[in-house]
Amino acid sequence: MNPFLSKATLLALSIMSSTAMASHWSYEGEGSPEHWGALSEEYKTCQTGMNQSPINIDQSANAHLKPLKTHYTEGPITLINNGHTIQAALKSATADTIAIDGTPFTLQQFHFHAPSENTVHGKHYAMEMHLVHKDANGAIAVVAVMFDKGAANTELDKLWATMPEQTGQDANVTSQMDLNALLPKNKRFWRFSGSLTTPPCSEGVTWIVMKHPLTLSAAQLEKFSHTMHHDNNRPPQPLNGRVVVE
Ligand SMILES: [Zn+2]
Repeated sequence: MNPFLSKATLLALSIMSSTAMASHWSYEGEGSPEHWGALSEEYKTCQTGMNQSPINIDQSANAHLKPLKTHYTEGPITLINNGHTIQAALKSATADTIAIDGTPFTLQQFHFHAPSENTVHGKHYAMEMHLVHKDANGAIAVVAVMFDKGAANTELDKLWATMPEQTGQDANVTSQMDLNALLPKNKRFWRFSGSLTTPPCSEGVTWIVMKHPLTLSAAQLEKFSHTMHHDNNRPPQPLNGRVVVE
C-alpha cells in the first residue's frame, strides 16, 4: 500500500467522520436544540433565523380566513422510524392537496412530535402531527394537528399497529387509511410564517395550525414515546414581531 495515499485516505476519512459527528442533531445532550445552530454551517439558521418555528400562539389578528379545504384521497404507503420521529411516506405523485391563497400544495409526508412543538397560550398538547406540503416552486406549507389525551384515535391505530420500533426501520402500512379522519371536522386555523422545526431550520414555511384538537389515548401516546425513547419537540422560538392571523 502507498503510505502517502493511505495517510491521505485516513485524513479524509477522519474529516468526513468528524463532519458527520458535528451535524448529528438530536433532542438531548450535545446535539440538543439550543446547540443546533453551532453543529454545522448548514444549520446556522437554527440560531440566526428571525422567523423560527415552533411558536407559542397567544394573540392573533382576525383576517377572516376561511376554514382550510383539504383534498386528501390517498393514504400512506410506509412508516419510517428515522430516529427523530415516525414518518409516513406517500406515493411520490400523490393526489393529496390543499390550496393556500389559490395555490395547490401537495402532501409529501406526515410525522409526529410528542409533546406538541407549537403551544397555545403556553399549553403543550400531548402530541402534534405535521402534514408537510410543497407547491410547484418548492415552497413548503405545514398543517399541524394537535392531539389531547382522551379517547383512542382509531385511524391512528392503523399506523401505530405497524410502528417500526428501531431507528432506520420502515414498515408497510397495510390498512386502508382515511387521512381525513386525522383532521378535525372544524377546520379553522391559525396561520403564520415560520421555519422547519428540525435542522436546517429553513425559513419561508407557511404554518397552518388547526384550532381544534383531536384526541389519542394514554396507551397510544405511550407507544409513540416509548418508541422514540425521549421527547422530540423543539421549544417555542421568539416571535420577533411576527403576527399570527386567523
Ligand atoms: Zn415536524
